[in-house]
Amino acid sequence: MAQSPMYLNILMLPIQNLPFGIFSSTRNDTKRVGVALGDKVVDVAQLEALGYLDTLDFEPSDFKSEFLNAMMLRGKLAVRNLRNRIAELFEINNKTLQDNVEHFNLIVREAIECQLHLPIRVGDYTDFYSSEQHAFNVGCLFRDPDNALMPNWKHIPVGYHGRSSSIIVSGEPIHRPKGQKKPPTADVPVFGNCNLLDFELETAFVTFEGKPLGDSISTEEADEYIFGMALFNDWSARDIQGWEYVPLGPFLGKNFASCLAPWIVTLDALEPFRTAGPVQNPKVLPYLEYTGDKHIDINLNVLIQPENGTEVNVCNSNYKHMYWNMNQQLAHHTINGCNIKCGDLMGSGTISGPEEGMFGSMLEISWKGTKPFAMPDGTERKFIHDHDTVIMRGYAEKNGVRIGFGEVRTKVLPAK
Ligand code: MN
Repeated sequence: MAQSPMYLNILMLPIQNLPFGIFSSTRNDTKRVGVALGDKVVDVAQLEALGYLDTLDFEPSDFKSEFLNAMMLRGKLAVRNLRNRIAELFEINNKTLQDNVEHFNLIVREAIECQLHLPIRVGDYTDFYSSEQHAFNVGCLFRDPDNALMPNWKHIPVGYHGRSSSIIVSGEPIHRPKGQKKPPTADVPVFGNCNLLDFELETAFVTFEGKPLGDSISTEEADEYIFGMALFNDWSARDIQGWEYVPLGPFLGKNFASCLAPWIVTLDALEPFRTAGPVQNPKVLPYLEYTGDKHIDINLNVLIQPENGTEVNVCNSNYKHMYWNMNQQLAHHTINGCNIKCGDLMGSGTISGPEEGMFGSMLEISWKGTKPFAMPDGTERKFIHDHDTVIMRGYAEKNGVRIGFGEVRTKVLPAK
């Protein structure tokens, strides 16, 4: 026995998960494709170099790469075969690799010695607005409870095109943004630091290469174009956003940073956690209809850690609360012939559950600052303070198997 196989049973990253990321390690490796397994990282470039992937349809450069895009360009079936092959090699009774000490030590790294990088070269970034509770809450805060949802909301998975250049990986700090805003009491706008800095609890999905311009992807086909999901904190400057968004929507209040978790959990790994979505009433147009369970049960948390303080949980939500699922989002995105590309990123929109305690932004948690959140250190939060770290974690769990999403964390530094 080369190594204890006990790590296969570690809760968050069991062999049923096998998420993909990009890592480098203290062995002075260049960036390469890795797969997380327990407290280890499997070096997929080494697996390939040592011949363990010879029957698969990949080139060495697909794995010795700064991003997952080259591997993903091989398509869903190839990536599925790769993941299945890795599962086979690390299956507890398969001794081929596990008893080859030399190979095992070249291929398997301690996670603690690995640095994780932004996994995807994000082409286009689209952000949806698909949680009914979130849209309702925002409608209540900025309009009134009787007209909280806009007339289009239950007919269209509302979204906008974001910016990919400012998508960062977990661990990278951000500076408080500055900008133009108009306080409610002021007659004219002012320039200054964002005072209402907020997170948005989201997941994002990453796409494989889509269809040519002019073609559409149906709800039925959508799964075949989705590589996987990751935690996503879509940072927001509420005061900047509130002044600029009419009539064309989000701009500088949104594009200063969005933070992606380093591990992409494949859609294949999430299949066991499928669940039914809400009944959609009014009935959606035929191109948005779908069959089967297309929602996914993923527990989500948000924590705020003040400087030198402990983590404080401010939100428990779940992805299953979404009104619109990924299949509908992708079908809607492409129904006009818009082409999606390998490495596009689609944000879910803030994921708020139906009760207090399940709200996925400070805007909702503090109810626009009218209900400050009391922190155990005696301070309060209406929005995010300088030196706070915002952490999001998530997992799907069923029948004793837990598929972890790891975490996405960002520390807020003072404005530059
Ligand atoms: Mn968002």
